[in-house]
Amino acid sequence: MPPTLLPAHRVFIWTIGCQMNRADGERIQRELRRAGHTPAGTLADATAVVVNGCAVRDNADRKVWGMLGMLKGLKKAKPHLVVGLTGCTVHADEDELAPHLDPVDVLFDTLNAEPLLARLARAAPADAPAYEDVEAQPAPGAGAVSRFVNVIYGCDKRCTYCIVPFRRGAQRSRPLAEILDEVRRFRDEGAREIVLLGQIVNAYGFDLDGTALPDILEAVDAVEGIERIRFTTAHPRFMTRALAEAMRDIPGVCEEINLPVQSGDDWVLKRMARGYSAGFYRDTVAMLRATVPGVALTTDIIVGFCGEREAHFRNSWQMVRDLRFDQVHVAAFSPRKGTVAAEWADDVPREEKLRRLHRIEREQTVVAEDINRGYLGKTTEVLLEELTPGKGDGEGPRWRGRTRTNKLVFIPHRVGLDAGDLRAVRITAATPWSLRGTAVANAPG
Ligand code: SF4
Repeated sequence: MPPTLLPAHRVFIWTIGCQMNRADGERIQRELRRAGHTPAGTLADATAVVVNGCAVRDNADRKVWGMLGMLKGLKKAKPHLVVGLTGCTVHADEDELAPHLDPVDVLFDTLNAEPLLARLARAAPADAPAYEDVEAQPAPGAGAVSRFVNVIYGCDKRCTYCIVPFRRGAQRSRPLAEILDEVRRFRDEGAREIVLLGQIVNAYGFDLDGTALPDILEAVDAVEGIERIRFTTAHPRFMTRALAEAMRDIPGVCEEINLPVQSGDDWVLKRMARGYSAGFYRDTVAMLRATVPGVALTTDIIVGFCGEREAHFRNSWQMVRDLRFDQVHVAAFSPRKGTVAAEWADDVPREEKLRRLHRIEREQTVVAEDINRGYLGKTTEVLLEELTPGKGDGEGPRWRGRTRTNKLVFIPHRVGLDAGDLRAVRITAATPWSLRGTAVANAPG
């Protein structure tokens, strides 16, 4: 087939935020590629910039405003630079957004890049090559061993602290056929692991007729060449026995799950409108652990939510001690304008929020080290993701990989190891954050 020749921009995509935003950024890059544009290696080299913003936390907003401020300066030196804004940021209040829009030429929703493509078509870059050979460009993300696939967009819950439903809209599941097309394309580009994404990934199919997340897991598992499947983020309310059994019975689905609890206290959970109690969460974890042998469990906790007293906080801390999570992502509450909680008194002082945060982190570090030390001397299957340079400690380059339980593992490089390999690795050292080991033979069967 002859190469497709089109006017080309060099587009730099700046993404912050969650894995869903990263997946959206890659998808926009693919659409740009289809339209004939190439990725820019650096901002300085770009003829167009896409700011793919996040609004979940206050500091994410600040970073986006900072980036737009910097682009405003850059446009003085490069007046032809086209700037697009997308991600959660574009659905902010007009009042909030307006002061930052000076450098922005086009606003567009992540699911519809047409306005961006139209704007680029109207503004052929003065300083870029006139034509690009689309077929010769590498696909965005190609070669990565692990790829993200969005399966459901939006969220129908209304947790009182969360801005996401206002920015991402109602739940919309992607059709199975579309998901599988993307999985096969990623497989052809070298992926061995697929991570299925959604704000509430286990709400997949609530807006469809009969298809649910276990069906997707089964269908992806049947795609030849895909060795591992993960999914995130799961909501405790929808963590059903059927899903746990799918995790146990479908060979490619990894024994690992992120199940955000947010608080271990019933009064706080009710105020957050999470839709479950601490007891329900504990029972759900017990069901999961009884159904999926060796399952690794991570969670998210917010400390210092409006009205959280020491006794409430202690219930979260106690849960961390009791449930022995593999990892806890802990955040100090910060109000987001437009949410219900932003109308309440943010009455836990910043120093106290940080004290609570550090207490949970300290507790969790002890638990995580203990869990990871359990791997010492054992041989486990590791998917090699990337060869990283040595740390200057004389050890030379090493491979970064992951166990099925999503533990980060570092392995010294030796001839014969390659990205995408599944290797049996004997674990020789453990810290709370990672493992080290040596490849001993092929992966255990
Ligand atoms: S479930 Fe709650 S925290 Fe998660 S995206 Fe929806 S509203 Fe936000």
